[in-house]
Amino acid sequence: MSELLIFLGPPGAGKGTQAIKIASKFGFAHISTGDMLREHISNETSLGKVAKSVMDKGNLVSDELVIEMLVERLRNDDCKNGVILDGFPRTLPQAESLENIKNEFPVSKVFVFEVDGDELVQRILLRGQTSGRTDDTEGSIKVRFEIYMQDTEPLINFYHRQEKVTKINAVGDVDEIYQNIAENLNKYL
Ligand code: AMP
Repeated sequence: MSELLIFLGPPGAGKGTQAIKIASKFGFAHISTGDMLREHISNETSLGKVAKSVMDKGNLVSDELVIEMLVERLRNDDCKNGVILDGFPRTLPQAESLENIKNEFPVSKVFVFEVDGDELVQRILLRGQTSGRTDDTEGSIKVRFEIYMQDTEPLINFYHRQEKVTKINAVGDVDEIYQNIAENLNKYL
């Protein structure tokens, strides 16, 4: 059985930055489904070809494809110590798929990243200037926010009912935010 932590929050909330830091501190695997999909795109796999146009528009890749990709990734040896999921689940069917593997990977905690909307758009546009991400454009950002509100935000309630949610103020200094998450985890572990 491995700890499974979920980092949940809108695009640009800093989930990836914090996931990398926390994963290396606690010895967990960092799994970003967005990074995995971008790797498929750069390797020009069949999944990458399907994903590219969907991602560029800011839409979600199908649950079926993403769930299959994730479940396979969790079989990797580096997941034995624990896992941080960054960008998964994003829909109710994705959250339910984790219920199916809860004997091996029970969801232990869900960190919800809270940031003000205007700040987010600025962060993502800034990131787009340096990341080279083809989906960090204004049109795609708008779609990604709408999808977040519609499909992903309801998951906060889903996990709230299971008493797994910890809210994190994700505005401000990266190191302070990191300390806050790390302290919360230390109390829990
Ligand atoms: P991210 O790097 O998490 O912002 O993800 C970038 C894009 O990859 C998203 O806008 C989606 O198109 C796609 N993607 C990443 N994770 C998922 C997921 N769990 N379900 C569906 N699509 C995803």
